[in-house]
This record gives sequence, C-alpha cells and structure tokens, in this order.
Amino acid sequence: AAVQPVSGLGSVVTTSSGVTERKKEESPPTAADGTDPNRILVVGGQGNYLHLADGRKILDACGGAAVACLGHGVKEISDAIMSQVSTISYVPWGFLDTQSRRDMSEWLSQSSNGHFKKAWITSSGSEAMEGAVKLAREYFVWKGEPQRVNFIAREESYHGITLGALSMGGHLVRRGPFESLLFAGVYRIPACNAYRQKLSGETNEEFVSRKAKELEAKFIEAGPDTVAAFVAEPVVGAASGCVPSFPGYFKAMKAVCDKYGALLVLDEVMCGMGRTGTLHAWEQEGVTPDIQAIGKGLGGGYLPASAILASGKIIQAMEAKNAAFTHGHTYMDHPVVCAAALRVQQIIQRDNLLSNVQSQGKYLEKLLRDKLLSHPIVGDIRGRGLFWGVELVRDKGTKEPFDPELQLARRVHETALSEPYNMALYFGQGCAGQAKGDHIMIMPAYNVTPDVIETIVDKFAAVIDDVFGKLEKKDLNLPN
Ligand code: PMP
Repeated sequence: AAVQPVSGLGSVVTTSSGVTERKKEESPPTAADGTDPNRILVVGGQGNYLHLADGRKILDACGGAAVACLGHGVKEISDAIMSQVSTISYVPWGFLDTQSRRDMSEWLSQSSNGHFKKAWITSSGSEAMEGAVKLAREYFVWKGEPQRVNFIAREESYHGITLGALSMGGHLVRRGPFESLLFAGVYRIPACNAYRQKLSGETNEEFVSRKAKELEAKFIEAGPDTVAAFVAEPVVGAASGCVPSFPGYFKAMKAVCDKYGALLVLDEVMCGMGRTGTLHAWEQEGVTPDIQAIGKGLGGGYLPASAILASGKIIQAMEAKNAAFTHGHTYMDHPVVCAAALRVQQIIQRDNLLSNVQSQGKYLEKLLRDKLLSHPIVGDIRGRGLFWGVELVRDKGTKEPFDPELQLARRVHETALSEPYNMALYFGQGCAGQAKGDHIMIMPAYNVTPDVIETIVDKFAAVIDDVFGKLEKKDLNLPN
C-alpha cells in the first residue's frame, strides 16, 4: 500500500482496492478532554511568532496555508471585529444589508478598477470555489446555452474539499474515497510546471503553444459548445508547491476559452489578495478572469473570509434576465467577517504592503537560491512575491522524487517545528498520488522585514542539512 503524507490531513494509505484511507496510527483518537497528541497547543501570537503552551516561540514562516498575511495579534483588526460585533453581529442576507458588507463589496470592486461588479462574501475557499463553479454554470443558463455543463481543469491542482470544488481539483488523495460522487463532466489537462514539463530545446513560445494545444484538444474532446469554463490557479499552491504559470501561458489559455465561448474561472484562494505582489495574481498575466474565488489572505485568518467575485460580463447576463444567482448560505455576507476583512485590506493598502511583498519576495528568492539551490536534494526553487516553494528530489539530474514512504516533506516540517529551529513551514507531497516530489512552502506575512527573511532562510537551510544528514545512503542517489 502506498503511504502519502498530505498537508493538513495526516497520512493516507492507498489500499489494494484503490480506495484511500487515513492511516490509523497517524491519527490517534482525540481524548475526552479534547486533547489531541498530534496538535500543539498555541496560547498566543504576536507578529511573526506563535506562542506555545510549553513556553516556546515559533517563527511562523507560512501563516498556516498562506493565511496570516499580516501576522498575529494585530489590535486594529480585533478592534474592527469588536466594533462590528457590538453594532450588529448578524443579519440574514436575503432582505437585509449592513454597511460593512457594502463597504467590503465596494472595496473589492474598486480595487479591481471596476472589473468585478459583484462579490458574494463566503467563509472558506471551498465555498468560494463551489459558488464560482455554480455561477459559471448559471451564467450559461441566463445566456440560453444550457448545454454548457462541462468544465476543464488541471492535474496537480487543488480547489477545495466540498464536492463541487473537489470535482474541479486534481488532488488524487483528497478525491480518493469520494471519486464516485464527483462530477463526471470535468475534463482534465496537464498542469503547467516548467521544471517538470518543459522539454530540453523547447522554446518558451513552443512550450506555451503546446499547453494551449492541450487545452484546445480537450475542448474538442468534450464538445466545444458543452464547456462552461476552464478552471485554474494562476500560481498553484498546496497541490504542487507555489508553481507559477509560465510567461504567456494564461494569455494563450484565455484565447482558447474565447475561441470556444467558455469562461475563465481563476482560483486565487491561496495565491491571491497580495500574496504574489499584486492584489490579484492575474494582474501579472495580462488576462482578466470572468469569475474568481479568493480566500485566505482576504481576512488574514482573523475571521473565516472568502469571496466569489463576478465580472461585469456575468452580472450583465444576470441583470438582462432580471435574475439572481441561485445560491447562498446562512452566513453569507456576514457583517463581522466583512468588517475584519475590510480592515485587513485597508492595512495592506495604507502600509503599502504590496510593495513590501515585492521587495522582500525578491530578497527571499535571492537568499533561497544562494543558500539552497546547490544543495544535493534541492531540485527546484520557484514562486512569486512571498509565495515560495522548494522541491526536494532524490536525484537532481533525473528529477526523480524521493520514495513517498520516506515522508521527506513531513520530516522537514517536523524537524523545523522542533527544537532548536522552532519554525512553522507548510509542506506537501507532490499532488499526492501524482507524486512529483516533496515540496516545502515558505509564505511569511506581507509586513515581514529583511532580518526575519534572513532568519527564515538560515533556519530552513539548517533544517534541510539536518534532515539530509539523517537519510540513509540507499535513499539518496548521489555521485560518489
Ligand atoms: N483553492 C485553493 C487554491 C486552495 O489553496 C484552497 C485551500 N488550500 C482551497 C481552494 C480551499 O480553501 P479552504 O480550505 O478554505 O476551503
């Protein structure tokens, strides 16, 4: 049975029947008092540090899964939350409204120069993607093209854990037990990962053109007028570790979508809201999405915030039919969530943090490359802004990944978290099941300073050496 460590989900085993199960010994039952031996008790946090019950301070180099974009303990945000709670904490969205929802929506529209005309504020990234997919479908109902029921998505992608979002994603382990429940009409094309896929001698233009042809062939296979949307992350997050799209890739993919009348749905739940140095990652791609999902960095972890964003094209079709999006859940447009997220966004703007993401991101990239690129097990260092992934490989020449049984990325994460390093890193195992190598993700807060970047990279390099030093010769493929 193949064992795969999966960030946030413990380890799983693929059984001979092909069904994945969580590995029992990795998840002992939670005690009646709520104690879970796998989870470290955090009692506080300030700035870049988490404070543990045992007195240790952990340097947070990942903000969870790229969530804590302003770090921990920002009083201005808790003040905004308290102020909204004490004004009005909840109204149903169907027929009542709040100023905080209006302000948040207006901010999201203005900050995209009016490209997004409407935002539905939700809680998790999965909900936002679930809604984004439904909105793409309903758009074609409004347009009188009800035959558009299919989607094209990519391998090595992750779009969330609920059934619709999971159907879009190519994360095989997380899909595992639910495969038979997922949408049949999702066609899949390969990811865009230059390190793994660009052929030697292939020019940049040839690589992009090959990718566009893969998409076009999939449109033709599905039946071009049956496809509602192409769904993708501009910079792939959890599935393969901060893999940015290739220059020109999204322009070429959008041209194919336009040719066949399909929408572009972007999932910026992890890479969006400033993480890559622009508010939206697509600003660096020369394309605009028709529909977009955002999450994590929207509320910075202070409250669960995400959103479905719709461009003018979608809203015009809705209004032309005098229709409404057939969607919504009890806590949608929650006023306190909106107040928290708006304050997070105002701080990012006021403190000019996007430019800090760009400059500190360049510094992080430089230090990672200087200190780690020549390491015998570091295969690739890739990312954008403050969103960096390091892929570990058994053989740098052939790019052969480590045996998944070694759980190398998990070892790096666990070593980093322990004494003397005391640092939190995010980790993953390729796209578990399509394993392309272990990856570690570094995603500090947007207000990070150069000295903290230096500490992160120094600790990380020491952790890699530590883990490397404990590998057996048979696990490695090194020149003598
Ligand atoms: N899309 C992407 C790109 C993500 O990275 C994630 C979470 N890692 C999701 C969707 C799902 O978000 P959530 O876990 O908040 O439901």
